[in-house]
Amino acid sequence: MKFLITGGAGFIGSAVVRELIDSTSHEVVNLDKLTYAGNLDSLESVSDHPRYVFEHADICDAEALARIFSVHQPDIVMHLAAESHVDRSIDGPEAFIETNVMGTCRLLEASRRYWKQLALVNPAKAETFRFHHISTDEVFGDLAEDDPGFTEQTPYAPSSPYSASKAGSDHLVRAWQRTFGLPTVMTNCSNNYGPYHFPEKLIPLTILNALAGKPLPVYGNGHQVRDWLYVEDHARALIKVACEAPLGESYNIGGHNEQRNIDVVHLICETLEALEALVPQKPQGLAHYRDLITFVTDRPGHDLRYAIDADKIARDLGWRPRETFESGLRKTVQWYLDNPEWWQRIRDGRYQGERLGADI
Ligand code: NAD
Repeated sequence: MKFLITGGAGFIGSAVVRELIDSTSHEVVNLDKLTYAGNLDSLESVSDHPRYVFEHADICDAEALARIFSVHQPDIVMHLAAESHVDRSIDGPEAFIETNVMGTCRLLEASRRYWKQLALVNPAKAETFRFHHISTDEVFGDLAEDDPGFTEQTPYAPSSPYSASKAGSDHLVRAWQRTFGLPTVMTNCSNNYGPYHFPEKLIPLTILNALAGKPLPVYGNGHQVRDWLYVEDHARALIKVACEAPLGESYNIGGHNEQRNIDVVHLICETLEALEALVPQKPQGLAHYRDLITFVTDRPGHDLRYAIDADKIARDLGWRPRETFESGLRKTVQWYLDNPEWWQRIRDGRYQGERLGADI
């Protein structure tokens, strides 16, 4: 099959593209605008592969979308392109509405026109066509300490401009399915971490600041709780849903792994200490990486806790994550140690983020 992946140069999209090329025989068209978050370096290992094509385009550009659908005739659309960083949505919400809401609308319309046309010329291909929308658990708002995790039935209650714009995109996808019959599936996932993660996010920022002897910023008291999923586990789940889920279904995807932010930072410090032989020498005068932890003013409207009930995808599709938090974090730290050329280029050049806290 031919997959059209939007946002394939981003953190999760690039993991999906690598997984599709490395572990399946499917073809991939990667449609990406290459914003600050898009990085073709993350696709170096597959960029010359005969089953991979890159299309530099904006999902808001209806003409470009029509051309790409017409030229490539995809079997499955996986929609990951988005403005995705909560702190940036607080600094400037409009880009989030433009890409996440309007861009999703244009992509749905381009998909619908293509699918209608397909029904006339190739009904068998139209029958199996599907649009997979990739979203976040943040659309559900936050939870108190003892609340059960979000299920697929949890009402939407987004808190930030980012999560509100993603909630808007989810509603559009449901509406296109109900109103126009567009064959859609949807997933809502918890926080991802792993290789090729943009260095303004909590886990890579903590690893890289620790190595440089810089402060490790933690919002408020660090007691906010997130569920963490290793990005390659997420990529495998997404491909399974795209290929196997019944139409119209939605699935929550999580790592069965709730952690307080402060505990994540401590665990990274301990992992670096444990890998001492592989880590460049500690900055002079620093006894422990944890001594670099610095509490900073909390983010406005900061959600206290997210937790995912991922039973449905386990029950219906037999998916469970392979990595524990300890194994995934160790792999992640190791990857950042082994690949300085990837993150140094971002930090030296395009990295704009002298932010107070770390995006989570
Ligand atoms: P990312 O910011 O790393 O990547 C987004 C990609 O989309 C980039 O390559 C960027 O260039 C591209 N893009 C942005 N605007 C575009 C436009 N107008 N047209 C075409 N391409 C555009 O994001 P990510 O962390 O990889 O997240 C991917 C998707 O998964 C998003 O929809 C996000 O909401 C969702 N999600 C992310 C997480 C997470 O923890 N990162 C968790 C759950 C869901």
